[in-house]
Amino acid sequence: MTSIDSQRRKSILRELERFQQHDLCFSSGHILGSMCTVPHPIAREAYVRFLETNLGDPELCPGTKQIESLFLRFIAQLLHAPKSAGGQIVSGGTEGNITAMWLAKVLSRKKEILIPKSAHFSFQKISSLMDTKLIEIPLTDKYVVDISQLKKKINVRTVAIVGLAGSTELGTIDPLPEISDICGDEHIFFHVDAAFGGFVIPFLKAMEYPLPDFDFRLHGVSSISIDAHKMGCAVIPLGTLMIREKQWLESISVDSPYISTEKQAGLLGTRSGAPVAAAYAVTKYLGMSGYRNVVRSCMEVTHYAVRRISDIGLELILPPTMNVLGVKLKKPGEVVQKLSRQGWRVNKVERLSCIRLVFMPQITKKIIDEFIPVLQKTCKEVGEI
Ligand code: PLP
Repeated sequence: MTSIDSQRRKSILRELERFQQHDLCFSSGHILGSMCTVPHPIAREAYVRFLETNLGDPELCPGTKQIESLFLRFIAQLLHAPKSAGGQIVSGGTEGNITAMWLAKVLSRKKEILIPKSAHFSFQKISSLMDTKLIEIPLTDKYVVDISQLKKKINVRTVAIVGLAGSTELGTIDPLPEISDICGDEHIFFHVDAAFGGFVIPFLKAMEYPLPDFDFRLHGVSSISIDAHKMGCAVIPLGTLMIREKQWLESISVDSPYISTEKQAGLLGTRSGAPVAAAYAVTKYLGMSGYRNVVRSCMEVTHYAVRRISDIGLELILPPTMNVLGVKLKKPGEVVQKLSRQGWRVNKVERLSCIRLVFMPQITKKIIDEFIPVLQKTCKEVGEI
């Protein structure tokens, strides 16, 4: 490298750093309102080694393709998928939901999707993209879908029913066994959005938390979306859509002339193998017991935060199902703005008049001890307490 090249390189990197200084990073511990996290160190290492790969043209990278298969096998086992199941790597929960509904629509040729009122906003995109109508089903006082209301809305136009295994706003789990029975009886496609909960619920169940089944052990479940870039501690972007019958993917496949495979399924063409290698590396490194420890520690921090929040006179919307809390406030928007000015990021949920806190693996009790006095002072200023 000439000295001019080296100077140019340094100056570009300095420029990038100047921009980067404006970013908040998860490792600061000040982001309490995101479902993403600091990637595991092994994920970082793996990621940079696979920057040149393109899984959209898998014959060019058969080694990375094998890693993808192994990662999908891990997810299939985690979700108790049958032998007939197939997996599709996606960029995250949004693409997972889009792909699932695309599949359901092509298989059924119908138009109405039944979603809980708490469903992620990606379903709004789906409705616009796919000329389908969303029917929102009201929730019970426990913030899960109301089964009696759901039953009333099923009709000959129903494409699919969606259930949540870890809602975005509160981490709640819909009555999935009941929905599974309904979908089995009515032959309706049942998609479980476990974008967040997929890497939490199996480990909570292993720790004897009394949670219902949410995966393919429920016979009515057709597909599950699960994100490794959330509680899987991998690098963004990495989600998986697992479907009960691999052959269903043919219905969303197209001929792919001029690349190495004859057919390509899914939304994307060119896609990097780097996040897949990173996610696989984390599964190998942590294994089931490692993930269980991550979830255990997130829950310890969550329960600690519950106590500290109650000590300052604030109330929760619900006791936590997983590492997500909604804290009731009269003016959540104002509190969020003031916290943000003090360097803390949380989300407002106007619909529920609360702020949402997510206790991801980087959040420790020490961070909660720093945050609570700031929350208390801010809530006093706004007249919440
Ligand atoms: N589904 C659920 C339940 C989510 O919580 C989220 C995001 O938080 C999504 C889907 C969308 O995921 P992504 O932002 O990775 O596309």
